[in-house]
Amino acid sequence: MEKNTQLSVMGGGLVGCLLSLYLAKQGYRVDVYERRPDLRRTDIPAGRSINLALSDRGWRALETIGISEDIKKVAIPMYRRVMHDKSGHLSFQPYGQEGQAIYSVSRGGLNQALLDLAEAQPTISLHFQQQVLEVEVASNKVTMLDNSAGQEYQITPDVIFAADGAFSMVRLSLQKTDRFNYEQSYLDYGYKELSIPAAADGSWQLEKNALHIWPRGQYMMIALPNIDGSFTCTLFFPFEGDPSFQSLKTEAQVHGFFQEIFPDVTALMPELAQEFFENPTGSLVTVKCFPWSNAGKILLLGDAAHAIVPFYGQGMNAGFEDCTVLRGLLEEHQGEWETIFKTFQEVRKPNTDAIADLAVYNFIEMRDKVADPRFLLQKKIESK
Ligand code: FAD
Repeated sequence: MEKNTQLSVMGGGLVGCLLSLYLAKQGYRVDVYERRPDLRRTDIPAGRSINLALSDRGWRALETIGISEDIKKVAIPMYRRVMHDKSGHLSFQPYGQEGQAIYSVSRGGLNQALLDLAEAQPTISLHFQQQVLEVEVASNKVTMLDNSAGQEYQITPDVIFAADGAFSMVRLSLQKTDRFNYEQSYLDYGYKELSIPAAADGSWQLEKNALHIWPRGQYMMIALPNIDGSFTCTLFFPFEGDPSFQSLKTEAQVHGFFQEIFPDVTALMPELAQEFFENPTGSLVTVKCFPWSNAGKILLLGDAAHAIVPFYGQGMNAGFEDCTVLRGLLEEHQGEWETIFKTFQEVRKPNTDAIADLAVYNFIEMRDKVADPRFLLQKKIESK
């Protein structure tokens, strides 16, 4: 039976789409407002990273809505880390027991699949190019901007779910309320995506079923495979100092640096200098805040509640787990929003705080310790 409460999900990204499906399955009518145009019909960049590592908590959430098998067909299992040292020597660390893996998936492809599913539900309405500007928290009145018409208007949903990402406008409105705790911290490092195209015969130029790492002490590069035979590399690098994004100013400097530091892969990156200068440099932020809800009328989740740095590959996975936990609470407490939201934030906050801290720590491990023979030995002992 359809329920009368009017629910709005702000943000049609990975978490917003999945959440809208869960809410629709519970019998609610849901409006999803997404700032950007429909990515299935426009050639816009998928967002922050081209591919993502999907792990167990993410798969569990996708199983619930029946798309895990479809996504698995276009996902690449990565059974191990492959570390490349400066002389091109390789070492290996399995991600789990025999057959266990994390998976490389396309962010755009996954978002599109979720949008298709949402669109197929008669009780979900998708509204693209509709941007949240501000929420009047006391009344739940939301000021929206229609980006296609350039016009502002207002809506007043019964319940607002904020899945509008790390720079959430809903959260910004909550920040102005009494006793709302908020902290954000940036790393001194940024990231840049570079690419290794497929070989002429369409095959992968590095081991396909692996996550590749070039740990270099103060910085590192990683590469995840794509289904078209290419790899997307991400260089995590200081913004300032030497070397840094700032210090490499010419094509010759970029080539010289890569040839010295990443010698086994530079020849596989024909567009290196162009990509280095033309692709955006992203920043890396951790956001912690609390409470995530207000009076049973507003709930933050996904990156809007807990943005983390990507070194554990768990941001999206944690956002999907938010949806799984929320789904259980929706079933248990049927429309008692205040109870649902309070329980949700109490259950989830310690977990997301922990992964936020682990993610920062894992940067040190990945860029530095995975190259350290003592660490490799320790891992060997642990995995026995
Ligand atoms: P988002 O994906 O940011 O989606 C938010 C949506 O809201 C967007 O569609 C946006 O357009 C929309 N929006 C924003 N503002 C408004 C507004 N005012 N009004 C309306 N709509 C709005 N996670 C993993 O699990 N595995 C990985 O391997 C991984 N790798 C990563 C690599 C990098 C370099 C980075 C930066 C992140 C990575 N993450 C990874 C984290 C992951 O990208 C995020 O945790 C995930 O995208 C969060 O999903 P979300 O839906 O909460 O937010």
